[in-house]
Amino acid sequence: MQLSLVIPVYNEEESLPELESWIRKVAEKEGLSYEIIFVDDGSSDKSWNVIEGLKINNPNIKGIKFRRNYGKSAALQKGFTLARGEVVITMDADLQDSPDEIPELYRMIKTDGFDIVSGWKKKRYDPISKRWPSKLFNRTTSYISKIKLHDFNCGLKAYNRNVVKSIEIYGEMHRYIPVIAKWAGFSRITEKVVQHSPRKYGSSKFGGGRIIKGFLDLITITFVSKFGKRPMHFFGVIGTLLFFVGFVIAAYLSYAKFFWLEHKMTERPLFYLGLLSMVMGTQVFVAGFIAEMVSRNAHGRNDYQIEKELGH
Ligand code: UDP
Ligand code: MG
Repeated sequence: MQLSLVIPVYNEEESLPELESWIRKVAEKEGLSYEIIFVDDGSSDKSWNVIEGLKINNPNIKGIKFRRNYGKSAALQKGFTLARGEVVITMDADLQDSPDEIPELYRMIKTDGFDIVSGWKKKRYDPISKRWPSKLFNRTTSYISKIKLHDFNCGLKAYNRNVVKSIEIYGEMHRYIPVIAKWAGFSRITEKVVQHSPRKYGSSKFGGGRIIKGFLDLITITFVSKFGKRPMHFFGVIGTLLFFVGFVIAAYLSYAKFFWLEHKMTERPLFYLGLLSMVMGTQVFVAGFIAEMVSRNAHGRNDYQIEKELGH
């Protein structure tokens, strides 16, 4: 099979029929063998019935329904494990992404050999309250991850199947799939300007909290990918530095006390600073040891991404 379309669906009953017929039209025109995987993320409307109805006329449709709402990342992850196509394309179910982009995205993965092609909603039809935080979010992510993308969170993305079979996303990490993929060793990442439309039916599923959660997730994945397998290098360095600073302060104060007898050392703010710094340094250091012991026992500590093998 050439193409898998993974579509997370959460209360999108109105847009599904239009989306399906549009995708079918495009795929048939291009002569692509394809499957559409609808992952119903615990919808409370009639989305699942609509999917069942569509399946009757289109055998290429596959569906799965979660018992409750787990979030977009969970839906995508489930779709990725089911996907069988050589190229996997994700898109939102709300018709904000255009199926007309599919052939070119497919070609860029298949012929140009990219691992990931990420959509870029250059002209974006969302309220300003969404566009501005999004800009900040994209700049920061791009700066930290060194990936040159303008729109990390675009729902429309294409992947070589190896990418989606090698990464694991959970929580709300769908915003960082290119980052996660890059750290898994997939470096041919590019973007394509895509058509974006305003939401025709239903309402957006993500509220204002997304920006804070997004940044916390970025810190987590940066930390885990850099130090997940060697936490002591992080905690050890910070702990040692803190302790050292505290020790120098304490040593200086003791010296001053004994040789100049100038002050009562406990009356100087510096004293408390030094004390605090030594105590915190020790704690951070010990946290490093604990993290090392946790990661020694972690399942998958010796899982590596194998690209090629020879002679087995
Ligand atoms: N979605 C989902 N589970 C959720 C929230 C959203 O599967 O908990 C799906 C939703 O149905 C849509 C896509 O994720 O297909 C993007 O959601 P939305 O359009 O609300 O996001 P926005 O375009 O506002 O960023
Ligand atoms: Mg949308």
